[in-house]
Amino acid sequence: MLSRIIKSRQTLNVSKSFVVLQQLRYKTVISLSSTLTSYPTQHTTESDEPYLTPSFLNNEFIKSESEEWFNIHDPATNNVVSKVPQSTESELEEAIESAHKAFPNWRDTSIIKRQGIAFKFAALLRENMDRIANVIVLEQGKTFVDAQGDVTRGLQVAEAACNVTNDLKGESLEVSTDMETKMIREPLGVVASICPFNFPAMVPLWSLPLILVTGNTAVIKPSERVPGAAMIICELAAKAGVPPGVLNIVHGKHATVNKLIEDPRIKALTFVGGDKAGKYIYEKGSALGKRVQANLGAKNHLVVLPDAPKQQFINALNGAAFGAAGQRCMAISVLVTVGKTKEWIQDIVKDASQLITGSGFDKSSDLGPLINPESLTKAEEIIENSVKAGAELLLDGRGYRPKDSKFANGNFLAPTILSNVKPGQRAYDEEIFAPVLSIVNVDTIDEAIQLINDNKYGNGVSIFTSNGGSAQYFTKRIDVGQVGVNVPIPVPLPMFSFTGSRGSFLGDLNFYGKAGITFLTKPKTITAAWKINNIDEAILKPSTSMPVQQ
Ligand code: NAD
Repeated sequence: MLSRIIKSRQTLNVSKSFVVLQQLRYKTVISLSSTLTSYPTQHTTESDEPYLTPSFLNNEFIKSESEEWFNIHDPATNNVVSKVPQSTESELEEAIESAHKAFPNWRDTSIIKRQGIAFKFAALLRENMDRIANVIVLEQGKTFVDAQGDVTRGLQVAEAACNVTNDLKGESLEVSTDMETKMIREPLGVVASICPFNFPAMVPLWSLPLILVTGNTAVIKPSERVPGAAMIICELAAKAGVPPGVLNIVHGKHATVNKLIEDPRIKALTFVGGDKAGKYIYEKGSALGKRVQANLGAKNHLVVLPDAPKQQFINALNGAAFGAAGQRCMAISVLVTVGKTKEWIQDIVKDASQLITGSGFDKSSDLGPLINPESLTKAEEIIENSVKAGAELLLDGRGYRPKDSKFANGNFLAPTILSNVKPGQRAYDEEIFAPVLSIVNVDTIDEAIQLINDNKYGNGVSIFTSNGGSAQYFTKRIDVGQVGVNVPIPVPLPMFSFTGSRGSFLGDLNFYGKAGITFLTKPKTITAAWKINNIDEAILKPSTSMPVQQ
């Protein structure tokens, strides 16, 4: 499906009177398996040859020389669709060195030129939306419409990044007569991004557009499970005019991440993913003096009050709990019914049972499969374990398979609902990351607030009510970074930042928005005195007292 060898090259180094063959290196330049007009729109079969995922170094797609390759499985069939390498040491070195070398020129490229490239990049993303969305369906499993949402959410960051000429304006003030201080923000250097599997386009685009417009250079490591979208994104960045070396993509698992953390040429790390990897990267990166922002796991609650508009609430809940098969960091995984709203549970179950679980390429599917068999097994174990601990299984999606036999090996779990869930049960305590909704019943809004504030995570929360006073009471007291009122997934658009908090975030400055720009830049103040006439006698004499500039 992919790539033929297009060219090879070798590098020779001449030293004194004899020729030293310092490096003889053949690079295989390949092309992506999809184009704007030709991309997969259906599942592959077992006999289809998997395409190879290249690395992106100096604006070329390079076939890795690695001996270690990981299979990328279509989650709906578990057929191998692609292979992705563990980038070799020399490929990692080349990516970092390219980004390091490209930095001074890119930093000095005028902001108006970088902005022009950002505009083109955003336009190309929009033009290639369906191409990117389809590779997401194939590698990640979500439905096509949901995959378009994945790209759109990233595109919105790319579009907001075009405002850099406003966002990067410094400050200046004449602080004393003929003396001015200005504060500007400068790029950091090479920034590395480590991405998760669940948003193959959105998460790389949470940081990449801002890395580029602020004058930094990038080394990105997509999830080894879903690298296809990121590869198209960098093809488009190069087409938009991003110069060679400014953006590089490497692949792999821990060895790649460790190199990105440890290499002194990398000045900042952006991470999105699970708690274990995030804490490791944050702690190790910070100890080495790097800036790190790390978005971690979540457990998002939706609180429903008896005065909520019932059907609007049920539709919103089921979409937010089961959409993307629950594999969103902002998915609603806990419903907190307050008082009499527990009587609505049977209607919630009825509507959830109507949702269609199936292939992401099938337009009638509401949710696709889980990413891999391990995730399916983990979710099933948590359901089993929680039922034994006293939860009531109201809707059981285990064992579900779409009718078509080609999906017999897919990682499907249909919507599942557990009620009578309590802290201490695995269904409440752990992030399941699957279409499993846990329901906890409480008597008052204060009990709901207490429950949520006692939970270790602080990514998102939502309240459904028709009473503005109750909403206000709730939003003031709840200790969660992103709060929705009658909005089930309150992720702010990128003129604001993604403000997950407590156990869902490590760092000081969040992704995108003003905080994102601040994270990617460092302040510099320049204080200058320019006297036109009458050089002051006083400044011709040395003064040893503290200058106070009055
Ligand atoms: P993951 O932590 O397994 O992987 C994320 C990245 O870290 C991948 O690139 C992976 O290769 C790397 N990695 C994994 N384990 C590592 C280790 N031990 N050392 C070094 N690197 C390691 O996460 P995932 O399964 O890909 O994604 C799902 C998780 O991401 C969920 O917990 C979800 O809540 C979280 N997530 C959070 C947000 C957010 O904004 N808070 C957004 C999306 C996903």
